[in-house]
Amino acid sequence: MNTQKSRRNFLQLFAASAVTLPFLPVSGLASNLSGLQEPYDGPVLRVAIMGLGGYGTRVAEAMRDCRKAKLAGVVSGTPAKIKDWQHKYSIPEKNCYNYQTFEQLKDNPDIDAVYITTPNALHHDQVIRVARTGKHVICEKPMALNAKEGQEMIDACKKAGVKLLVGYRMHFEPKTLEVIRMRKAGEFGKVMFFQGQCGFNIGDPKQWRLNKQLAGGGSLMDIGIYAINGARYMIGEDPVWVTAQETKTQPDRFTEGVDETIQFQLGFPGGAVASCLSTYTMNNLDRFFLTGEKGFAEMQPSTGYGPIKGRTHKGELTQPHTVHQTVQMEEMADILLSDKSPVVPVDGEEGLKDLKIIDAIYLAAKTGKKVTLRL
Ligand code: NAD
Repeated sequence: MNTQKSRRNFLQLFAASAVTLPFLPVSGLASNLSGLQEPYDGPVLRVAIMGLGGYGTRVAEAMRDCRKAKLAGVVSGTPAKIKDWQHKYSIPEKNCYNYQTFEQLKDNPDIDAVYITTPNALHHDQVIRVARTGKHVICEKPMALNAKEGQEMIDACKKAGVKLLVGYRMHFEPKTLEVIRMRKAGEFGKVMFFQGQCGFNIGDPKQWRLNKQLAGGGSLMDIGIYAINGARYMIGEDPVWVTAQETKTQPDRFTEGVDETIQFQLGFPGGAVASCLSTYTMNNLDRFFLTGEKGFAEMQPSTGYGPIKGRTHKGELTQPHTVHQTVQMEEMADILLSDKSPVVPVDGEEGLKDLKIIDAIYLAAKTGKKVTLRL
């Protein structure tokens, strides 16, 4: 099944890229695609996934098609899941850990990095503990619950001499990279305005995403962060001020500290403004719009698993669909093993900037005041 799937993905990628590659930038994406097609005998990043839930499973499946990254280990509190994953992904017993034993990773030469896909509130402690084992860390977004935690994680990784990356998969997505390339090339002219709408109607009231202790907040931590991060990579600057308004229509479902809907505005040093919406009660909100003096880009869906769709004033974005997590892990292997610099950073500092903005948005929503930022 794996071979068939790899072959199918390979053919899809090849067919798509054969048509569109001439229009792609030389760096970044083009190398992503050729990387997945050509034979490879360089270094391979051996990854252990911590937290074998929904997203961990998605990353594991996507890594089946990677050539530079390989699922080599697991960390889980559920023995049955470990057995299942061992069987599915041929993981040896010696690379399996639970939350009490994973410090022993320090004695395991067969794991290079740990990818943390647990609930948000656990990231801080787990990243620091993994860093101390001497392994690189990839942490899911949001990197932590606030900027203070984020800074401590960065410091711990620096002290341990390991790299810290955040799972910003959109930073490797072909259509997104093309819009960024166009903006850098001045094709939109002076950028004036960004709109980011991110939301969905959240289901099960018992899930950790609606538990302040585990989620650290509500929709903003989980889905609004895409608009925050997107505003920064689409505009190409970091914001200097924030205003925000929170509305709650279902206080029983969204308890104290768990935001249902937040609208926020970001001001950028070049004069551009972003207007964003983050919500847990509206479906079909996955849209970015960027406009400048000479042109525009719009993407919908803009941050879902894809295919991402979009157009600019020059026409439809035709870059091929890729499985985000496959390309992400190929690129992260290059970053961790070969010091490659991505087009848009995915390091701890990048995650920290979003956390500082999140802190500011919550403060602005609470006080009703404009909050100044220095990132
Ligand atoms: P999930 O609930 O499906 O999985 C979480 C896993 O963590 C489960 O296996 C659970 O057993 C485990 N876990 C360990 N300790 C736990 C504890 N104390 N309480 C609860 N669960 C515990 O969640 P998910 O959707 O996989 O999200 C995990 C992380 O991945 C979150 O930080 C989320 O924001 C992120 N995520 C990122 C993307 C993306 O596109 N980048 C998408 C989905 C989720």
